[in-house]
Amino acid sequence: MKGEYRRRYAFKLGIRLFASAAAGVAVAASALWYGSSEIVSVATGALAFALVLFALRVPSLLAPGWDGVVTSKTVRYVTLRYKNNVPEYQLVVTDPRGREHRDVFLDKEDNRKLNRIEYYDHGERVRRHRGFKYFEKFDKSGKLSVICIDCGTLNPRQRERCINCSLTLLRENIEA
Ligand SMILES: [Zn+2]
Repeated sequence: MKGEYRRRYAFKLGIRLFASAAAGVAVAASALWYGSSEIVSVATGALAFALVLFALRVPSLLAPGWDGVVTSKTVRYVTLRYKNNVPEYQLVVTDPRGREHRDVFLDKEDNRKLNRIEYYDHGERVRRHRGFKYFEKFDKSGKLSVICIDCGTLNPRQRERCINCSLTLLRENIEA
């Protein structure tokens, strides 16, 4: 179970590192091809490697997990090209260092089904796991759904695995 999460994290990290390395090598090789010196080619390749790492948000994937608190939940209505008054939900979670982390969800279907922002309660404690984007609730009692911390899908509480990505769901409460 723990291993499953570690493997998924390693896979996400591995793909991004591989893509960054491939970009770096390709840039260095083409710099050499077009007549740059070796040192300039290697430096250019290293720069490309670093840029792609940042573009793929590898630093945030490496950042350790933390426990935070839901400090704001809001909804506003936006106009899209094809539809008026589409609700846009925003969740703000504040980490122990006082920094705010936002999750914005545009509810295009607006079908009255619980969405991943409504799932959380104002003021409740949540956990961000290293390498996973969505927050785990400490107290899951009284909810009919469980969120998948990898893809953000809300699953019926009785399910073992995510209906979207098949990751085992975290259904137990976190004892504070
Ligand atoms: Zn999932």
